[in-house]
Order: sequence, then C-alpha cells, then structure tokens
Amino acid sequence: MPIYEYHCEKCDRKFEFLVLGCDKPECPTCKSPDVNRLLSSCSFFSKGGHGETLKAAAGASSCSGCAATSCSSCGH
Ligand SMILES: [Zn+2]
Repeated sequence: MPIYEYHCEKCDRKFEFLVLGCDKPECPTCKSPDVNRLLSSCSFFSKGGHGETLKAAAGASSCSGCAATSCSSCGH
C-alpha cells in the first residue's frame, strides 16, 4: 500500500495518507480536500523536466548510426 505525503493548502500542514483504492486524501486537521501530493525521492524522476533528461539519455545510447553513447559525431 502506497503511503504518500501531502501538504494541506488550507492550514499549511503536512501529513501522510495511505491511499486505498480510489480514496481521496483530505487533511486530518481541517478535513479539506484541497491538498497537494509532495514528491518523494522515488517518484521525482517521473515528473517534470528530469524525465525529459532521462529520455534524451536513453535515446543517445541506442543510436543506430554508431556504437558510441554520444552521437555528436554521426548526427543521429
Ligand atoms: Zn488542513
């Protein structure tokens, strides 16, 4: 069961929420559903600009034009 960390927009508190099925998290203090999920270290790379960096690195290493991991010489 994944436990995520959330931040409540309303009362500015952090809390952890165990996600069961399609349960919607709400703040345990003020019961507000207006919460944001905080990024943990393991899910960080699946969001934002870092995912693009990983994709670019994978594309460079699978170049069909040369054996090098950097394709600046063959243009692929
Ligand atoms: Zn709250």
